[in-house]
Amino acid sequence: MNEPTVFSKIIAGEIPADIVYRDEEITAFRDIQPLAPVHILIVPNQAIATVNDIEDADAELIGRMWCIARDLAKQEGIAESGYRLVVNCNADAGQEVFHLHLHLIGGRKLGSSVSR
Ligand code: AMP
Repeated sequence: MNEPTVFSKIIAGEIPADIVYRDEEITAFRDIQPLAPVHILIVPNQAIATVNDIEDADAELIGRMWCIARDLAKQEGIAESGYRLVVNCNADAGQEVFHLHLHLIGGRKLGSSVSR
């Protein structure tokens, strides 16, 4: 079994995070190094490493991540102004944490790319 990721530790309550949503399948918390005024990570509680590791049986879970992103965008007041949803997969995309996550980024004009 793989080492628990930092996100698994947040989900388990072992390290602190600014959690904005949680249910039995999904947790969302603010990114520790935000790229914009709103930068939230939406994470399945189950440790799926990358998009490549998503199984067909996860389709409902993955869909729910997007529904939660939609609701959080509304809650954060950026649904109408706009936002970006990003998923990085593996090295060329700059994935740092190998626990699937959807970035919800907004609250300012984002331009054509948002990265460090
Ligand atoms: P990625 O490059 O797509 O793997 O993004 C990983 C994200 O996790 C980065 O935006 C980091 O700032 C964020 N991150 C890493 N550690 C933490 C943490 N302890 N709490 C919140 N966000 C974190």
